[in-house]
Amino acid sequence: MLTASATIERLRNIAADIATNVLAADSEKVDLEGHWPERGLRALADAGLMGLHVPEHLGGQGQGLLALSVVTEELGRQCSSTAMCFGMHSVATKVLATKASSDHEDRFLRPIAQGQHITSLALSEPGTGSHFFLPRTQFATEDGSVLLDGQKSFVTSGGHADSYVVSAVPPGSEMDPGTFTCFVVEKNTPGMEWLPDWEGFGMRGNSSRGLHLDKVRVPQGNLLGSEGDQIWYVFEVVAPYFIIAMSSVYIGIAQSALEQTITSLKGRSHVHTGETLSTVPVLFPSGGGDVDRNPENAAARVTRCAIGG
Ligand SMILES: Cc1cc2nc3c(=O)[nH]c(=O)nc-3n(C[C@H](O)[C@H](O)[C@H](O)COP(=O)(O)OP(=O)(O)OC[C@H]3O[C@@H](n4cnc5c(N)ncnc54)[C@H](O)[C@@H]3O)c2cc1C
Repeated sequence: MLTASATIERLRNIAADIATNVLAADSEKVDLEGHWPERGLRALADAGLMGLHVPEHLGGQGQGLLALSVVTEELGRQCSSTAMCFGMHSVATKVLATKASSDHEDRFLRPIAQGQHITSLALSEPGTGSHFFLPRTQFATEDGSVLLDGQKSFVTSGGHADSYVVSAVPPGSEMDPGTFTCFVVEKNTPGMEWLPDWEGFGMRGNSSRGLHLDKVRVPQGNLLGSEGDQIWYVFEVVAPYFIIAMSSVYIGIAQSALEQTITSLKGRSHVHTGETLSTVPVLFPSGGGDVDRNPENAAARVTRCAIGG
């Protein structure tokens, strides 16, 4: 039986191995061509990492925030798009797993653990932006099912994932965060219309895009948790997992960018001085000492948050 920290190191090593051997080879094409990183995500699925937050009794890894931070950071070092897709899949998986019914376990969590299902989050909206706990998308109950109407922005893996966790409120409750409610919507449900890709700098392959929902009908059983109890989800699940996933993607990118900058400064020398750029104080303060420590400090802060969570 591995200790908790040995388990985290094992997961880090698996992620680093896939990042180096699969993601790195594809990342340029993924970004230049805006190509959704299917091969990298397949490798993560085959290694069992897509089930990071699925409970062990359902075949997953049963892990929490620290594992999310460590794995996502390793992926972000080599391919920011794959890291973002993995991060949003993981947050949505955690939302699905938190109060899953046995039907949700069979339809979503076991397939996720088996590497056969990718999910994502559809919370943010163009109108309320980062205040994602105040969605304007509405739901109404009709004949035992639920109808969803509204618009989402930045749905990562949009159009590629097998399911989406969608937030909505009942009509007239737009300003009441206590009515925040989540449903899981399966891909290709009639009434879903994908909007053009967001062309994010260095992240063109993550397929973050808008989603228009026009009378999208889902079974009442696709409700996650209980109707209206979900401000609890915001603070206990969505916000911590979302923030750690996002931060870890960008820490991974920053670490990689800094390493490349240092290599470049140490490798570039002028013929007329014979000295490398790393000897120029304005480019490389304190011989790089402070610079070297910066991403580690930021990474340590994210790790502390993940452990605290
Ligand atoms: C690559 C990428 C992938 C994403 N994937 C997903 C996804 O899969 N699912 C999803 O639901 N969302 C996703 N998002 C959306 C994201 O998390 C935010 O909801 C979105 O970026 C908000 O953008 P905005 O420009 O509307 O922010 P705005 O609301 O306009 O905010 C702009 C800035 O102002 C700050 N700000 C706003 N209000 C306040 C305040 N009261 N006090 C202090 N600061 C404030 C914000 O923190 C932000 O820095 C993704 C975003 C990106 C960039």
